[in-house]
Amino acid sequence: MIFSNLFHMKAYAGAVLKSNKYDEYVGRRKQMVQRQIRDRGISDPKVLDAMNATPRHLFVSEALADQAYQDFPLPIGEGQTISQPYIVAEMTQALNLGKEDRVLEIGTGCGYQTAILSQLVYKVYTIERIRSLFIGARKIFDELGIHNIVARCSDGSLGWQDEAPFDAIIVTAGAPVLPKALINQLSMGGRLVIPVGDQTVQSLKKIVRDEDGIHQSDLGACRFVKLVGEQGWKD
Ligand code: SAH
Repeated sequence: MIFSNLFHMKAYAGAVLKSNKYDEYVGRRKQMVQRQIRDRGISDPKVLDAMNATPRHLFVSEALADQAYQDFPLPIGEGQTISQPYIVAEMTQALNLGKEDRVLEIGTGCGYQTAILSQLVYKVYTIERIRSLFIGARKIFDELGIHNIVARCSDGSLGWQDEAPFDAIIVTAGAPVLPKALINQLSMGGRLVIPVGDQTVQSLKKIVRDEDGIHQSDLGACRFVKLVGEQGWKD
């Protein structure tokens, strides 16, 4: 009886990162979380814990590792950037994640945001359109022993129809308009966080889908690299 119950239980597979070789940065990481994230109002302990546990300096080139815990975005190659730590925390908290959630991320980049998500949910699906970034991100997921991320290289502005619906969708590149495909791939109760605007400044939108329809709120101004694709900007 007990065994059959167990068999039907949905396992929680939030990633626990391997944590041996990055200890020299523990202090800087703690300071980043305290000053840039907690002091600015991010209070979800799960988000703070994930950011404390994630070796951000391993997601940038060695030459930039010393700047990895500072209060700004950094280049990751191919004209793209790793987001400022605060924006990662703000977007993650806004997704209201539960440990059994399946999450879609558009814009893997270096994979830092993906690694944060992987510790909070059951499974992360992530899409990156630039092959070299996709390959680099997959490599670091392996190195950190993260096994609940499924990564793909394609145009994410169309979402991932075969794996939909998702409990949460996060887009880490700026879209000219809200991509319809993504809204359609939200589950009932699903949350979408996405920057929408022109190529200089966007507003961070949160969309919630429920029985009554679609509810939209505005989380403030932000600046992302552009979402390039069928429901994004032209290349
Ligand atoms: N979260 C990432 C942000 C990277 S910048 C990080 O912290 O590293 C945004 C990324 O979105 C870039 O890598 C860019 O190549 C990617 N991107 C832009 N348009 C895309 C699309 N249509 N599908 C998938 N990825 C896209």
